[in-house]
Amino acid sequence: MSKKIILLLIDSFMPHVLQEAREKGLVPALSFLMEKGAYWDNCVTVFPTMSATVDASLVTGEYPEKHGVQGLIWYHRPEERVVNYINGSKSVWRIGVSKCTKDALIEVNETHLSQDVTTVFEELTRRGKTSASFNFSVHRGPCRYRLRKPGILKLILAGLSFERMVSGPEICTIGRFIDSEFLRSFPWKWSHSIFQKYGLNDWFAIDATCRLVKENKLPDLTVVYLPNMDYAYHRKPDQGPQILAKVDRGIQRLLDSFGGGEEAIRQCRFIVVGDHGQTKIGAEVEANIDIPQHFVGMKMAEMKEIKPDSDDVVICNNERMCYFYPLKEGVQEETIKRLLRDSRIDVLAWKERGGVRVRRGEQELFFAPGNKIADEYGRMWNTEGDLSLIDARQKEEGGSVFIAFGDYPDLFSRLYGALYAREGDVIVATAAHGCEFFTPDDPVHRGGASHGSLHALDSFVGLIITGETKERFARPRIVDLKSYILQQLT
Ligand SMILES: [Zn+2]
Repeated sequence: MSKKIILLLIDSFMPHVLQEAREKGLVPALSFLMEKGAYWDNCVTVFPTMSATVDASLVTGEYPEKHGVQGLIWYHRPEERVVNYINGSKSVWRIGVSKCTKDALIEVNETHLSQDVTTVFEELTRRGKTSASFNFSVHRGPCRYRLRKPGILKLILAGLSFERMVSGPEICTIGRFIDSEFLRSFPWKWSHSIFQKYGLNDWFAIDATCRLVKENKLPDLTVVYLPNMDYAYHRKPDQGPQILAKVDRGIQRLLDSFGGGEEAIRQCRFIVVGDHGQTKIGAEVEANIDIPQHFVGMKMAEMKEIKPDSDDVVICNNERMCYFYPLKEGVQEETIKRLLRDSRIDVLAWKERGGVRVRRGEQELFFAPGNKIADEYGRMWNTEGDLSLIDARQKEEGGSVFIAFGDYPDLFSRLYGALYAREGDVIVATAAHGCEFFTPDDPVHRGGASHGSLHALDSFVGLIITGETKERFARPRIVDLKSYILQQLT
């Protein structure tokens, strides 16, 4: 019989932080898991390097062009509105707390995630297996759950009715927002309070997993989302190893719930992975790329209400990446012209002839799905122009020629995936090293760190799999994990 799997997704789990923490002896639990299996420091996530998109790719095994979750913040053209899965209190307030809550809790799973893809939870059900999701944002599955408004949210969200149910695996929590047998019998703790985001934290998710272990009720797959590292690292990137040490204590607690690490890995295979990295942002004003300054004389849409007849462009800021959705003829060209002047913009790209046009200053590159040359992940493309723009090159190895990526890993699939996640014109910009985009209502991290871009620092995450050998993956990707899990469990 195959071993049960516990997948721990650590938000902002970065290889260089793990290495430093190991050298300082701060992460015994993670070190133990690494020694009992294989570790990769080159696992590539999808783009934008923002949680909602990554979670959707992890559970479906697809890039966004298939699953449709375009970013943490994106423009829904058919519904003429901005979707925000809760990033930035001001921005959420502008769009409407109820709308954002509904998007994050219901729509992401029930309508935004394409019906043409399946989640790992749905696939396991088909195979007669069971699963659990603790606080994972994308959890579409075989069971239906009613949502609830914990504590004071009953008043704040008085106008919001949760008449629709949300689906998930056999055991499913989103903090205290999902009403279930499991939650009702879960004793209240401080980590469930409003001050701890109603359970959307590491302690809640680890407690929930420990409980399944102690009651001997672990399903075949348990997916556990650990967000605390992200919150803390955004503010204090210099404290990275110490922040990871706190996450490690939670993981140690989980191992101890089995009666120790050896017993834990005897019973289960552990997968520990990150969703994205982070990049330090300069403290100076110039570190923020002021978007409104670029659009003087043009009409930027208000987040609260998009007016396609009079607005020129909808702007969706995903920290170190930004989407620009032109609403009128000529706006795409004008937007590109203006953004190209800013040297703090690293990669500028848009849809063209079924492929992608990329620009930086005078440098140009075009690529499209095709049949001329494979990239190092085996996907076939046609390309024209300057590969050095994206630090890629043609490489010959063992008699075959392929495209090898440098500072922008797996760029073709990732950039194509973001642009083609939704129909209609859209331009993508990423911020140069040390910079992030600034729009008045969205969070800023000057002197801290943020993510969203295609660069290696935002894109490589750590991956540990116990009981596995390094040869299993030469170049692992987040999109490979679903099929790996299914293989292991069947
Ligand atoms: Zn973050």
